[in-house]
Amino acid sequence: VEDFARAARRAVALGFDAVEVMGSEGYLVNQFTAPLTNTRDDEWGGDAERRRRFPVAVAAAVREAVGADFPVLFRMSGADLVEGGTPREDVGALAVALAAAGVDALAVGIGWHESPVPTVQAQVPAGTWATYAKDVKQALRASGHGALPVVASNRYSRLAQVDEVLAAGDVDFVALARPFLADPGIVAKSRAGRPDTVDVCLACNEACIDRSFGTERVSCLVNPRSGYEAEFPLTVRERRGRYAVVGAGPAGLEAARTLARLGQEVEVLEAESEPGGQFRWAARVPGKEDFGETVRHHVRELAGLGVRLRLGHRVGHRDLAHLRGFDGVVLATGVLAHRPELPGLALPHVLDYQRAFADPEALGPRVAIIGGGGVGVDLAHLLTADPQLKRTPEAFLARHALTAGGPVARLAPRTASAAPRRVTVVRR
Ligand code: SF4
Repeated sequence: VEDFARAARRAVALGFDAVEVMGSEGYLVNQFTAPLTNTRDDEWGGDAERRRRFPVAVAAAVREAVGADFPVLFRMSGADLVEGGTPREDVGALAVALAAAGVDALAVGIGWHESPVPTVQAQVPAGTWATYAKDVKQALRASGHGALPVVASNRYSRLAQVDEVLAAGDVDFVALARPFLADPGIVAKSRAGRPDTVDVCLACNEACIDRSFGTERVSCLVNPRSGYEAEFPLTVRERRGRYAVVGAGPAGLEAARTLARLGQEVEVLEAESEPGGQFRWAARVPGKEDFGETVRHHVRELAGLGVRLRLGHRVGHRDLAHLRGFDGVVLATGVLAHRPELPGLALPHVLDYQRAFADPEALGPRVAIIGGGGVGVDLAHLLTADPQLKRTPEAFLARHALTAGGPVARLAPRTASAAPRRVTVVRR
């Protein structure tokens, strides 16, 4: 408890404007409220009141450490989404106890990292978790703490989705993190009436959350400058050079955008008739449609920056003279799929993944996918997608058996007949 208080005092000394106690997502504070992890039978566990004693003690200690006027937010778990997690009826009582301990706002997090239910991935519809923040607000209202602001969070990528949740009047704020990595200008652009110019977060977690669990620096798949702003400042050079970028996949589009933003003249050459490269395939996977938005966004931005995009132009020897006229050429021609040494690869029903993404109908009812990495699994999702599946928050919650309000999260079993194909993923 004293460690939390000390950390808060340091934050004040360092000039921060507020502190938030991380009491959700299965970390230490949250582990005290869940019977799954709190098996104590002393004054810190045993019943609901003793299980919430630790978070309440932390909140009170932090408040005391920073003084009455310094803003203290507390991120509590709205639903742990693990078997044996904090019972739902305990969540409201915890919110009330934290209010009494003097926090200034309650941010509501969702799920533990161990949860079998996706919480921040692309297939989770925006607004799905607002219902748990609403429960917290209702508990506060019922106990006379209704004025305490409640902050919803998790899985919003557009401010229009945020507006919708706020308009319903059940929560006071919505917290975002990843969308600011994808586009730090999200608020300014939306305020200026140009939400269409926002680089949308894909909820892919590849360069942010996934990296934060290791030792790599957090960045963003659609905005690789994120986290590297100091190393790569957007300083416009005085001498305007000419650059050719070969390949209009995500890497080529980003290279072109960066060069153009640095004031350079840029031409992009792409062999296919459409830009986007591998992102075009990703955008076909149910729930990952926003990958297409990244391509559209970059192409729009390139047009605004005066970049010339030549599609259907495969660069070859005949282009050497043309390319010599540039100050630099960026090769962003993508990856080559590894072809294993297997007999039968030339048979007519053996397709490479690009062909399978482009034309899934070319495959029969029983499919073996060789390779179980991201591409293979995405393809499996595409091939087994249930066209009847509703992508609303309500349908998502029902699919994960969360509507009854139970804390146990399980995947509702899908009948084999619902899938249009039988797919087997084979991995080395
Ligand atoms: Fe969003 Fe970028 Fe993180 Fe992907 S890497 S989830 S686009 S912030």
